[in-house]
Amino acid sequence: MNYALLDRGDRLSRELSKKFQTLASARGFTVNEKSPDIVLSIGGDGTLLQAFHRFKEQIEEVAFIGIHTGHLGFYADWKKDELSELLDLMVTSQPGRVQYPLLHIDITTRTGTSEYLALNEFTLKSVDGTLVAALHINDEPFEMFRGDGIVISTPSGSTGYNKSLGGAVIHPFLEALQIAEIASINNRVYRTLGSSVILPKHHHCDIIPDPEEELFIGIDHLVMQMSDVQSITCRVSEKKVTFARYRPFPFWNRVREAFIGSGNH
Ligand code: NAD
Repeated sequence: MNYALLDRGDRLSRELSKKFQTLASARGFTVNEKSPDIVLSIGGDGTLLQAFHRFKEQIEEVAFIGIHTGHLGFYADWKKDELSELLDLMVTSQPGRVQYPLLHIDITTRTGTSEYLALNEFTLKSVDGTLVAALHINDEPFEMFRGDGIVISTPSGSTGYNKSLGGAVIHPFLEALQIAEIASINNRVYRTLGSSVILPKHHHCDIIPDPEEELFIGIDHLVMQMSDVQSITCRVSEKKVTFARYRPFPFWNRVREAFIGSGNH
């Protein structure tokens, strides 16, 4: 089996990474950073986000496995003391291939349109404070947003930033995107819906900011500063991310363990 490995870079993750490589080569696995079948990340959810972005050009050819070195992650769900068990399963069994929807983002400036793919979410904020932007759904004006920002998440990203904003947790079998507000201003002059909105596949939303406004644009953990943005279009991507599942770990169990605690019955 060909695999690539990415670790968080701290001492524990580097040590685990070395241990994994030793155990894997003893089982006949080969490191292949260019076209791996399996991509392993050792660290946390942030490390898996980095691995996703490193391999996003070949996203339909790879399957991800996340190992966490701290607390249970949403993507990083193998524990640090389970490396041998994981490797034995990789030798002896075929994994289930679980696929989750992704978010496609088009950002148009005067010089052209750039495409992005997000595993968790797209975030829009203004560098100077209040963001003012028109939101259209399926080419119809929906609302004029004024506030700290807008987060558009995937179903698997719905437990990340979106959840902190009061957005719903969405099962990743639903092909959808969720628009959540960050501190919208709502009074007699300004009005937005106030709750998060969930769009199905084949719907799209456009955000039209003031092109003079300097913006912070986040794609998962990556943040860039952009000006001259004419419009931003978000829709459910045609592509999906694949996770190799060597043992079942249902989404709702992960939600319970991460946010409620397994002993709280
Ligand atoms: P980070 O180190 O600040 O991690 C933030 C936390 O988000 C970590 O505990 C991580 O485990 C968790 N997380 C990431 N993806 C998740 C998901 N899909 N479901 C549940 N928890 C998730 O930042 P990072 O490691 O670079 O990760 C970037 C992510 O952090 C963003 O994609 C965003 O979802 C999240 N974030 C959350 C907030 C917030 O909740 N207020 C703010 C900014 C970013």
